[in-house]
Amino acid sequence: MKESELRKMSFATICVHGSGGPDPYTRALNVPIYQSSTFAFRSAREGAEIFAGEREGYVYTRLGNPTLVAFEREMAFLEGGEAALATASGMAATTTVILTLMRSGENLVASDTLYGGTHELFRHTLSKMGIEVRDVDATKPEEVEAAFDANTRILFIETPSNPTLKIIDIAKMAEIAHRHGAKLVVDNTFATPYYQRPLQFGADIVVHSATKYIGGHGDTIGGVIVGPKEIIEKARRETLRDLGGCLSPFNAWLLLRGLKTLPVRMERHSWNAMRIAQYLSFHPKVSKVYYPGLRIHPQHELAVKQMTGFGGMIAFELKGGRRAGEILMDSVKLMTLAVSLGDVDTLIEHPASMTHSTYTREELEKVGITEGLVRLSVGIEDVNDLINDLSQALKKVPA
Ligand SMILES: *Cc1c(COP(=O)(O)O)cnc(C)c1O
Repeated sequence: MKESELRKMSFATICVHGSGGPDPYTRALNVPIYQSSTFAFRSAREGAEIFAGEREGYVYTRLGNPTLVAFEREMAFLEGGEAALATASGMAATTTVILTLMRSGENLVASDTLYGGTHELFRHTLSKMGIEVRDVDATKPEEVEAAFDANTRILFIETPSNPTLKIIDIAKMAEIAHRHGAKLVVDNTFATPYYQRPLQFGADIVVHSATKYIGGHGDTIGGVIVGPKEIIEKARRETLRDLGGCLSPFNAWLLLRGLKTLPVRMERHSWNAMRIAQYLSFHPKVSKVYYPGLRIHPQHELAVKQMTGFGGMIAFELKGGRRAGEILMDSVKLMTLAVSLGDVDTLIEHPASMTHSTYTREELEKVGITEGLVRLSVGIEDVNDLINDLSQALKKVPA
């Protein structure tokens, strides 16, 4: 099938077939791992022209590589963006975007509930570089608006947010950012483009930890940035070239392989998570369940508006607090006590002492990450086995 025809197909078909069809050089159905650091020029003149940007061609894998390009094209297509840039990790994606768009003396407005590593980057490394970060409760547009001034360049959000599954209104945030001449950057790791496409709601740039659902198997670290061609090319030719956080061809290949099954995995993650969220919300030892698919979730309506499914992440609180959570995590047999998320295996962890231990006590309290909060990344196992595991572990938790 021609590329132009393929591009009219639906999301799941593109995931299986890739956005560009077979490898353009060899016709290999799966894009090969171009495990080469450098690329030979045919002549001195050709080399000089490629360097000068007058001719297309590969030079060196930090600047581009055919396996990475296949992954980038597919991600751009799936997110509905003009271009994409693969990075070594989700953190490399976020730092690359920020350092492409900002300089010292400027400021960034950020949602107060973010992946722990992003929060740490904002608080420590960016402030060391003279970039100020202003935390806001992004569920309150007036608070977001009030944080802006003439030096604000980026509004950074994560929705659903890690770990409390807050939903933030992407269209509203885009409107505020644009009114102040700033860019809206959305970390779309939790939802993936299968369930949420932030660019459609006015976001300028999407970043991902491809380590999570995109790879999907817990076997690789990677990241990606999707956005306008002009910004992506600047990020590639200036920031990533200088900082060096490029993806390896082997990891790009694993991510391409992960993308083939993204829709089927997301549907199973979501289906399992909904069943488990319902089970937990009726359990006498559980005081609170955070899952955007539940009608009791305070922003369920908004989730329905901007997402087409609710994903595999759940957080919940036990009546017995921290001690009860520890007993639960030590008692599960099938679930694995581990950080990370989006794997085919179910993972359970304690945000306050693990993924979000970089938050201060006051920050944890302010954003609702209590000592008794447990986070579940629901895998694709049989849901009855998962519920039975939780059930036997909850029996050991004191009432
Ligand atoms: C894991 C994660 C990151 C960081 O990605 P790495 O690939 O670990 O560098 C960023 N944002 C979210 C929401 C994450 O879950």
